[in-house]
Amino acid sequence: MKKRNAFKVMFSLLKLVDKFVIVLFLAVLNGAIGNLLAVSISTLSVIALASLLGLDISISLTTLLILIVVFGILRGVIRYFEQYSNHYIAFKILAIVRHKVFNKLQSLSISDIDDKEKGNMMEMITSDIETLEVFYAHTVSPTLIALIVSIINLTILGLVTNFVLSLTLLLFYIIVGIIIPLISYKVLEKDGSSYRYDLASFNSFFLDALKGIKEIKFLNKTKEKEALIDERSTMLDKKRLKSNNKASIFKAISSSMIILSALSIILVTYLINTYSNNASLYIKPYELMIGVVIALSSFGPLIALSSLPLNLVQTFTSGNRILDLLDEKPSLNEVTFKKDLIYQHLEVTNLSFKYKDEETNVLNNLNLNLKDNKIIVIKGESGIGKSTLLKLLLRYYEVDNEMIKYNDISINEINTSSLLDNVTMFSQSTYLFNDTILNNLKIANLNASNEEVIDALKKASIYDFVFSLKEGLNTVIDPQKLNVSLGEKQRLGLARVILRKPKLLLLDEPTSNIDLENEVLFLNSLKNIKKDMGIIIITHKESTAKIADVTYTLEKGKLYEVKSNESN
Ligand code: ADP
Repeated sequence: MKKRNAFKVMFSLLKLVDKFVIVLFLAVLNGAIGNLLAVSISTLSVIALASLLGLDISISLTTLLILIVVFGILRGVIRYFEQYSNHYIAFKILAIVRHKVFNKLQSLSISDIDDKEKGNMMEMITSDIETLEVFYAHTVSPTLIALIVSIINLTILGLVTNFVLSLTLLLFYIIVGIIIPLISYKVLEKDGSSYRYDLASFNSFFLDALKGIKEIKFLNKTKEKEALIDERSTMLDKKRLKSNNKASIFKAISSSMIILSALSIILVTYLINTYSNNASLYIKPYELMIGVVIALSSFGPLIALSSLPLNLVQTFTSGNRILDLLDEKPSLNEVTFKKDLIYQHLEVTNLSFKYKDEETNVLNNLNLNLKDNKIIVIKGESGIGKSTLLKLLLRYYEVDNEMIKYNDISINEINTSSLLDNVTMFSQSTYLFNDTILNNLKIANLNASNEEVIDALKKASIYDFVFSLKEGLNTVIDPQKLNVSLGEKQRLGLARVILRKPKLLLLDEPTSNIDLENEVLFLNSLKNIKKDMGIIIITHKESTAKIADVTYTLEKGKLYEVKSNESN
C-alpha cells in the first residue's frame, strides 16, 4: 500500500465532493445555525433568570420566553435538515466511489484481475467503501461547522463581555478542537490502521468460512473452524478495546476542558476586575454569567471533532486502499482505434513467453495453426503452460507482433473489444450471477431474441433441465442454495457462450469438475456448435480429449501433434 499522509488522503477524498458543494454548504449552514441556536437558548435562559431575579434587563421576560420556545423548535427542524444533507452527501458519494472502483476494475487488464494480491484487495474494498461514510457524513461538515460556530461564539462573547475572555475561551477551543484530536490521532494511528486491516481480513475469512460451511461439515471440522473464528474474533476485540480505551481517555480530557474553560473565565474575570485600572475592561456579574454559559454550552461541535480520530484513522486506511486501487494502472493497455476482426484463421509462430520476474520460458518457439472450424485438443502435464497459451491468445500479456496473428493481423493491432467479440474463454467453472437464468444468459448478448435463447439452450443440452424448473427461464440462481449442479452450471455457461456467438472458443479444462454423464452432454454440445466456431480445448481427461479433430501435447514449451482424427 502506498504511504500517503492523512492530509493527502483527506484532500483526495474531498476532491470527490466537488459536485456536492451546494448540499455541503447547506449542511454547514444548518449545522452552524443549529449550534448557535443551542448556545442562544442557554444564554437567553440565563438572561431570563437574571430578569426574574430583578436585574435590569432591557428585553421583556415575555419576549425572552417566546424567543426560547421559537429557537427550541427551530433547533429541532434545522437539526433534521443538517443530518439529512450530511447523509445525502455521504451516500451519494459512496455511490460515486463504487462507480469509480468498478470502472477502474474494468479498465484493468484481465491479467491484473487474475492477480491474487489484487484479488485480496477487491475483497476488502466493499467494506472499505462503507467506512468512508464516517468521513463524508461525520467529518467534513462538522469540522466546518465547528470552525464557524466557534468564531461566532468568540465574537459574541467578546462583544457581550470583553475580548480577554474570548481569548481565554479560544485557548480551550484550540486545545479541544485541534490539539487533543491531533495528539489522539497520532496515538491511535498505528493501532487503528492495523485494526482496520485485521477487520477487513477477518471479514473475508469469516465470509469464506460461511461459504465453505458445507465442505467444513463434510470434513467434520466444524469445531476447529469455530475455534479459529472465536480466536480471531477475540484478537480483534482486544485490539478494538485497546484503541477504545485510549480514545476514552482523550474524550475524558476533552470533557474536563469544558469545566476548566468556565473556571478560567471566572478566574480571568476576577483578575481583571481586581487588578485592572482600565474601567472599560470591568466585567459585570451578569456578563460573567453569560460568559460562563457560552463557554459551557458551546463545546458541542468541538467535542464532536475530538471523538472523530478513532474512526478517522480507520477511515483513512480504507481511503488509502481505495485511492491505491483508483491509482492502479493497467499492466497492459487496451488496443483501441486500430483494426477490427472477423476471425477466419489463427497463426501462432515461434511463440516464446516467460512471466515477469521468472527465469525460464514457459513457452518456447511454439507453433500452431488453426483454420476451419476444428476442435483442437491440447494435453500436457499440469503446470506445463497450457493455460498460459490460451491466455496469450486473448492478449492477457503482450508478445512480439509476429508471434500471434489472427487473419494475418498481429494480435497487438486488433482492437481489444473486437478481439473479445471474436474469441471467448470458457473455464473450469462458470460464474452465475444471483439473477434469473434468462438474465444470466442475456448478459452475453442483451439483444438476443427468445428463439436465440431457446436455440442456445438446446445446443448446450440444457433446455430440458431449464424447462423442468417451475419458473423456467425466470428461475433465480441462488449461489448460496446451489440450486444448480456444477454440470448444469457448465452447460448454462456454454449456452451463454453460444449466445455470444464467438468465432473461436478457448476452453480451459471445461470438464474437470463434472461427472461422466454431464461430460458426455457437454461434449455433445461442443459437437453441436463446432460448425459455428473454432474450438481449442485444454484438458487432462482422456474422455474429453477423444472429441479432438487434432490433438497436441505441450512439452518443453512446444506443441507436438499426437494423432490426426479428422473423422470426428
Ligand atoms: P497449465 O495450464 O499447463 O497447468 P499454466 O499455464 O497455468 O500451466 O502455468 C505454466 C507455468 O507458469 C507454471 O509453472 C505456473 O506456475 C507459471 N505461472 C502461471 N501463471 C503465472 C503468473 N501469473 N506469474 C508467474 N508464473 C505463472
